[in-house]
Amino acid sequence: MSQNQQARQWLRDMNLGHPIVIAGPCSAETQDQLLTTAHGLAKTKTSVLRAGLWKPRTRPGNFEGVGALGLPWLKRAKEETGLMTTTEVAHPHHVELALEHEVDLLWIGARTTVSPFIVQDIADALKGTDKIVLIKNPVNPDLSLWMGALERFEKAGISQLGAIHRGFSTYEKSKYRNIPEWQIAIDFQNRRPDVPMILDPSHMGGRRDLIFDLSQTGLDLNYDGLMIESHIDPENAWSDAAQQVTPERLGEIITALKMRQVGGSTEEFQNKLSALRAKIDVVDQQLIESLGRRMGIAVEIGQLKHDNNVAILQSNRWTSILDRMVEAGLKEGLSSEFTQKLFKAIHQESISQQKGITDA
Ligand code: PEP
Ligand code: MN
Repeated sequence: MSQNQQARQWLRDMNLGHPIVIAGPCSAETQDQLLTTAHGLAKTKTSVLRAGLWKPRTRPGNFEGVGALGLPWLKRAKEETGLMTTTEVAHPHHVELALEHEVDLLWIGARTTVSPFIVQDIADALKGTDKIVLIKNPVNPDLSLWMGALERFEKAGISQLGAIHRGFSTYEKSKYRNIPEWQIAIDFQNRRPDVPMILDPSHMGGRRDLIFDLSQTGLDLNYDGLMIESHIDPENAWSDAAQQVTPERLGEIITALKMRQVGGSTEEFQNKLSALRAKIDVVDQQLIESLGRRMGIAVEIGQLKHDNNVAILQSNRWTSILDRMVEAGLKEGLSSEFTQKLFKAIHQESISQQKGITDA
């Protein structure tokens, strides 16, 4: 057993398997829809049924959830299938109702985690209970806000806590609904290796065809579980229709995922190795994206020089960049030879791309 797994005691005590699979519709719509979905999911490795009752919608006018009406449906789904249940709470009143109707786990939505006042009110409402609370990352990429929410629950005496990584909002267009920014979740794990990390590939991807790859990356990064939206009729779901999958498809996704084994020394080694490799992949992706952004700026400079009839190469500027980077590289433990080679290659590519503009 690795240190992390020992520290994530409450999750191990639940004995729900690795990874823990939480699945269910974005929103509970009708009793029939919830029960049919739950029965479908009970045939898969799902152990917790999710369903949003109070839906935080970015703009008014969309389906805002059935509210308290759905609480007895969740209870009935639990009785009929044996699945545990979870719903989002965004207000102390939701907590009160969820406790009354024996919802097993509560989750804090991304739009709630951003607000310390609401998080505090919810934490206060949970004081003295032994509820399991899963905290989604805030919509904005702010590690402190995420950790702060965790700390507010800890201070209120809640000890069974987990984090859900659902990605972050950006104004720029991206293939993801919410960009992963894996590094933030990795930093969270490094600071709090005792807190289980669960991936929500549905809200991160925003599209059902992205769920598999995102989930695999999560597992490779040592995540403890997945929260995936599943609906009996995804296309006609009342919310988040593009990102939900049927229970059957969810079963296929879970079966196709490569699980990393737990226990045993070679397996332990393999686990650590794949987790480190997955971290390298994240950094490499960031490197290549940064280089792409740098090149984009160089091209803009090239255009500006071209329009103003200025020569491409300005050696003073180049020498000062190189000196500054060699010095910064030394501080990061990189040899000056390496930094010089790297920046010469980058500079060469910038010049070629700028020349493309002048030659055009
Ligand atoms: C949800 O889980 O349905 C939801 C609204 O998620 P998030 O808070 O991540 O947007
Ligand atoms: Mn949703």
